[in-house]
Amino acid sequence: MNTLTIVNPSTEATVSSVTMLNVEETDRAIDRASTAALQWRVVAPADRARLLRRFAEVVDAHVEELAQLEVANSGHTISNARWEAGNVRDVLNYYAGAPERHSGRQIPVAGGVDMTFFEPLGVVGIIVPWNFPMPIMGWGLAPALAAGNTVVLKPASLTPLTAIRIGELALEAGIPDGVFQVIPGEGSTVGERFVTHPAVRKICFTGSNQAGRRIMEGCAAQVKRLTLELGGKSANIIYADSDLEKAGSMAPYAVFDNAGQDCCARSRLLVQSSGYDRFMEYFEAAVKKVKVMDPREESSEMGPLITAAQRDTVAAYVDESTVAFRGTAPSGPGFWYAPTVLDGSDRSERSYCEEIFGPVVSVVRFEDEAEAIAIANEGPYGLSGSIWSRDIGRALRTARGVETGTLSINSNSSVRYATPFGGFKQSGLGRELGPDALRSFSEEKNVFIATEE
Ligand code: NAD
Repeated sequence: MNTLTIVNPSTEATVSSVTMLNVEETDRAIDRASTAALQWRVVAPADRARLLRRFAEVVDAHVEELAQLEVANSGHTISNARWEAGNVRDVLNYYAGAPERHSGRQIPVAGGVDMTFFEPLGVVGIIVPWNFPMPIMGWGLAPALAAGNTVVLKPASLTPLTAIRIGELALEAGIPDGVFQVIPGEGSTVGERFVTHPAVRKICFTGSNQAGRRIMEGCAAQVKRLTLELGGKSANIIYADSDLEKAGSMAPYAVFDNAGQDCCARSRLLVQSSGYDRFMEYFEAAVKKVKVMDPREESSEMGPLITAAQRDTVAAYVDESTVAFRGTAPSGPGFWYAPTVLDGSDRSERSYCEEIFGPVVSVVRFEDEAEAIAIANEGPYGLSGSIWSRDIGRALRTARGVETGTLSINSNSSVRYATPFGGFKQSGLGRELGPDALRSFSEEKNVFIATEE
């Protein structure tokens, strides 16, 4: 039997061990999901809604337990982990409103009545990365179930604990057997099997571009539906007319949150030359104040990286770049890395161009609006970003010019479950969350009834 030892990233202590399932066990789970799909799709919309609300209530009753589990498994700060568990509850609640509103259309045609129905796809395979195990699970799971699909979900090998627990909570809430199953395992076994198994009708993948491309190729063989949420190298654009004190003191959290292991991390900081010195004063002071400490502490603002290997990857990028300044990090056990600010003036450097997935940001100057947009649009990604300016016209023009899926003006927030989320260019394919998410978990069927004698 293949077991994986789960290590606490902030202490390096063993948390538990998890059995990794193989292809035969994955096939059995997919068979159960296929059988369950026949019953789940005919559960009355109001009953499906009620079950999702009950699921949300049970998650809500376990927010603290789930948060503590995530702190131990992933090294997330306790305040972030509580938000993440609460996000699963909120997304379940939001999509609990959907089954009773997922209506088709009646379209005027000659000779009869034409109507459309949204039919479930069947079994949906959700593949989750290690950086946000709970929210990313919920963003696929809730709309998929609401639309009448059953779900097999593979958590990342490194971070399966909260997913396994939420799978148990689903059963406790009355979600029928086989409707939602968590299958811990390797990407190359369980994940690949989701792609190759013909009964899995859609893949919802969040992770690296490399794996995403491979999955897209695999899905092509069966013309399998696919949503991809991939990498990012987002820009935080600071105009000189912005509230520089606010922008500077918040900029560290736009990239160092979750130790920079965030697809939406604003890891390129674009600062207008005429405000550069003032902004950097505020920014440097704020970076040095980021509380990098034991994530169990209520005041902790940043925890460790997920593994020693991830820390080595991050360090390799930094070693070949020019460090402007750094914050602090604990020494001793744990995969700690101090928040690090790089001089980004050489925009051909690897650290400037590639997604580092660690607490590292490159700073670059620009002169005017056109240059800010041009620099922001460099590279293959387009996931997120921020724009800081008091001139709302300029901020909006910039927002329309930047090729990215999720932007904030005078804010660094990325995710609101009621609004669509996803990437331009190589950051992804399709959108998650928001009012239209059920569309990508349904097929629209067109039915014509002749009324002429
Ligand atoms: P990863 O691609 O290594 O793994 C992601 C998941 O895919 C894991 O569960 C893994 O086991 C599985 N997997 C790997 N190879 C597979 C294969 N061939 N077939 C099927 N499944 C496979 O990514 P990661 O290192 O866990 O996560 C980090 C990446 O995720 C970053 O690039 C980050 O930007 C991206 N990400 C994107 C978003 C978004 O919404 N756009 C959100 C979070 C993370």
